[in-house]
Amino acid sequence: MTGRIVKIALDSPLDTEFDYRWLPAQTADSEPRVGQLALVPFGRREVIGLVTAVGDASDYDASKLRDVIVLRTQLEPLPPAWLDLCRFAADYYQRPLGEVMLPSLPTGLRTASTVALDRALKKRATARPVATVSAPSAAAVVPLAAADTVNTPDHARPADHHAAGARTSATVLNPGQQAAVDAITAAQGFAAHLLFGVTGSGKTEVYLHAAEAVIAREQAQGRSAQVLILVPEINLTPQLESSVRARFPHLQVVTLHSQLAEGERLRNWIAAHHGDAAIVLGTRLSVLAAMPQLKLIVVDEEHDPSYKQQEGLRYSARDLAVWRARQLDIPLVLGSATPSIESWQHAGNGRYRRLDLTQRAAANAQLPRVGLIDMEVNKAPEGLSAPLLAALRARLERGEQSLLFLNRRGYAPVMHCDACGWISHCRRCTAFMVLHKPDRRLRCHHCSLEQRIPRACPTCGNVDLQPLGRGTQRIEEQLRTLFPQARVLRIDADSTRRKGSAQAAFDSVHRGEVDILLGTQMVAKGHDFQRLTLVGVINPDTALFSQDYRAGERLFAQLMQVAGRAGRAGSAGSTGNVAQSAELAASGSEPAIGMQRSEVLVQTRYPQHPLYRALLAHDYAGFAEATLAERRSAGLPPFVFQALLRAEAKQLQQALDFLQAARKLMPCEGIVINDPVPMTIMRVAGQERAQLLVESASRARLQAFLKPWMAALREMKSRLRWSLEVDPADI
Ligand SMILES: [Zn+2]
Ligand SMILES: [Zn+2]
Repeated sequence: MTGRIVKIALDSPLDTEFDYRWLPAQTADSEPRVGQLALVPFGRREVIGLVTAVGDASDYDASKLRDVIVLRTQLEPLPPAWLDLCRFAADYYQRPLGEVMLPSLPTGLRTASTVALDRALKKRATARPVATVSAPSAAAVVPLAAADTVNTPDHARPADHHAAGARTSATVLNPGQQAAVDAITAAQGFAAHLLFGVTGSGKTEVYLHAAEAVIAREQAQGRSAQVLILVPEINLTPQLESSVRARFPHLQVVTLHSQLAEGERLRNWIAAHHGDAAIVLGTRLSVLAAMPQLKLIVVDEEHDPSYKQQEGLRYSARDLAVWRARQLDIPLVLGSATPSIESWQHAGNGRYRRLDLTQRAAANAQLPRVGLIDMEVNKAPEGLSAPLLAALRARLERGEQSLLFLNRRGYAPVMHCDACGWISHCRRCTAFMVLHKPDRRLRCHHCSLEQRIPRACPTCGNVDLQPLGRGTQRIEEQLRTLFPQARVLRIDADSTRRKGSAQAAFDSVHRGEVDILLGTQMVAKGHDFQRLTLVGVINPDTALFSQDYRAGERLFAQLMQVAGRAGRAGSAGSTGNVAQSAELAASGSEPAIGMQRSEVLVQTRYPQHPLYRALLAHDYAGFAEATLAERRSAGLPPFVFQALLRAEAKQLQQALDFLQAARKLMPCEGIVINDPVPMTIMRVAGQERAQLLVESASRARLQAFLKPWMAALREMKSRLRWSLEVDPADI
């Protein structure tokens, strides 16, 4: 046998694949295969690459090619569908293929040493799940229709522990949930569903029933199946994870996210890649996991901004999930109470099928009453208005919990000097240093620069420096003064720095050890607090006047989400024979008896603003339609397609000059290239930043422009840092 030429993708900014020689005499490897990992020399290093083609010819002088060191034959090659997914992502987001493929793999696969890989494979061999050891039989699977009539608690396992199948007991679905499950499971081939339902309407049950049905159907045909469930932030949705595990005790369920220890992430990735894991629950990075038997994709909270990666390959996991479902010809579920405007538009024009959940799943649960507190009338120099304080007091008297939401951490966003007007600017950023009172420091949230609070004004020597505005720490201080007997807990990025501390904090709320919970967006997601009957929203108005056209959409989603934390258990004491949301069933605590209807109070200076009027009516549909109409008339996405070129340099002019030159590189028919402008926060960590927005009414035309443009930009060999983002999230 003679040598072969293999093309290998490497994690390198050069937009090319590299040719290597593979000689059987040098290694004990069998013939190289596409999708295999290979250790190769690159420069002076040895690096891991991925075989993208195997052939007999090279465009280069074969005698000058370097040799593959070793192939990772112990691992199954990455499947062709996965390679195609990466190719699509590389093309669409304008990144070199290797920079898409390699970083998506766990670190343990990308090292020259095979210690981690061998250990992970050994563990796999000793812990094969039941489902792959014994051939699944159709008889072991109870049809879903029969399962539906059984209402056993989630923790009660069926007697037959050896059955290789999905869990056989499940909660009863209400008609809306059942119709949604039927629609999803009846889909032949690709079908995208927008599952639209308020918090507590039981979306999770729909996901789990659909997964159960899809797995059961495949098993009945003697095939295995995998389901991918994407969630925005796994640490904020532990209840979902426990629900999934409880529902499928006989199947391997793995998680994939960046917080996992390396060894565990590698093992879980391999379980997905080898088809052992029937269910993968993961954050955005898991959309790039290899899953050879993938039959259903669920994207929970599909509108969530954290699905967008903000560095490197700036992809949207939601959008890639849609592409992947179409590629594999399988159904997809996008779930949200406040869908993204893009998804709403697709549901409107028929590309997605909208499935509405109009009832709250717990039979007696009601939507919380929303009230607006006009801050022009209720002046509150300390931040908390009289009506909100009265509502807090009433909860304390009744022994119920309250949540205050303020999306600004720290004590005060800025310090200033009344005498001379000095303000605590960051010297490296066009931003303020935030006052953090507990550790007596000023801290920049953009570059992490910190310093002690100055004893006196650096400009005039005045010793009476004042905090301006308020963050969570300041509200916490005020609450402790006003309600000395109340148990107040603050949850934000500062209070939860230690690993596991966020979970411990949330647990104490669930145990009823907290009267007033105060926090940033961390408290808005995932958790259901059953004794919580009041949500207060402090100072949300700034988003109404943001330059970012998506700010309103995000604010509405955030307010709906935080409002949904209240009163999901409803006022009934009995959990009875009602279909609860899975989150509720898994949390294990009983709803309090005799609670009042929950209330959401929003402090605003603009109570007539259409966004708040829509919120009062729980009218997301109305808000979305109005937003779409505005975007259409303003020529904004989703009615145009955008890409954003960013550049940074020591001097702003250098960045602007680069963008100006980039602008003139190519003819641009059907494309609008705007003027280069400084970014909103122009300087971060001493670098000045500017951007250039490229737009087109046609996605295809924009894509056709970007590819040669990027090639020409790379040819410029500019030494300043630049990057391109397709479908940018923030402008
Ligand atoms: Zn001063
Ligand atoms: Zn800074």
